[in-house]
Amino acid sequence: MEELTRRKFLLNGAKAIALTLMGGLVWSAYLSEAKANVFVLRPPAALDEEEFLKHCIKCGLCVEACPFGTLKLATQGEAIITGTPYFTPREVPCKMCVDIPCVPICPTEALDINLVSNEKGLLDINKAKMGVAIVDREHCVAYWGVQCDACYRACPLMGEAIILELKRNERTGKHSFLLPVVMSEVCTGCGMCENACITKKAAIRVMPRHLALGEVGENYIKGWEKGDEKRLENLKTRDLSLDKNKQIQDYLNGEEF
Ligand code: SF4
Ligand code: SF4
Ligand code: SF4
Repeated sequence: MEELTRRKFLLNGAKAIALTLMGGLVWSAYLSEAKANVFVLRPPAALDEEEFLKHCIKCGLCVEACPFGTLKLATQGEAIITGTPYFTPREVPCKMCVDIPCVPICPTEALDINLVSNEKGLLDINKAKMGVAIVDREHCVAYWGVQCDACYRACPLMGEAIILELKRNERTGKHSFLLPVVMSEVCTGCGMCENACITKKAAIRVMPRHLALGEVGENYIKGWEKGDEKRLENLKTRDLSLDKNKQIQDYLNGEEF
């Protein structure tokens, strides 16, 4: 009888451990899934989505610190993990506060101050990468030939994060387009442009960078850009170590066409 009780006890203990482990696995699978799929814009200086979810304790201090009511905490029923902070630019964009009060207050570094600090260690909101604005060229009326520069004028980095490109209107033959074009390396994802867009549903929208942008990898190099030389050097070293006779082909700048 005593042996039976002992075995029952051990069995229950093993079950409890298995359930705990399964719970852990399910939760980490859930976090990975959430990272990959969720369309959510986080506060400035947020870590990558997966890391952010591991660090954020849902205290809401960043939301409280935001003087413009930009940030809110997800509630149950939303497609965002409950209790985590996010913003919706069409409703209230990030106003790019110079003192970025939402970031240093974060107790867990889910919002990492280093991501919005310059080389001198000073806060610099222009370094924020909350997302990237994408123009829907089909529904942006500037691409129809209508004069509109609302997004361009709303951008706190006007002329840098968003520029106007002059192009001849081939359809009329006598007019020009002034087309908004976003520079993804400069765009902070603040959403002022989306908020200002005049179309019924915004024709310029901020999207999470990992969902909106592609990645070239190391197979293609911009031979005409100095910034890409570093990547070229790395590629040369790696390729030569694999195959000493292999030459890198520069298709765009080579002599032959
Ligand atoms: S930078 Fe300012 S407006 Fe933007 S989320 Fe932080 S506190 Fe709010
Ligand atoms: S302050 Fe940091 S930990 Fe608290 S809710 Fe905001 S991001 Fe999460
Ligand atoms: S999100 Fe729009 S307004 Fe903000 S920096 Fe990017 S282009 Fe400018």
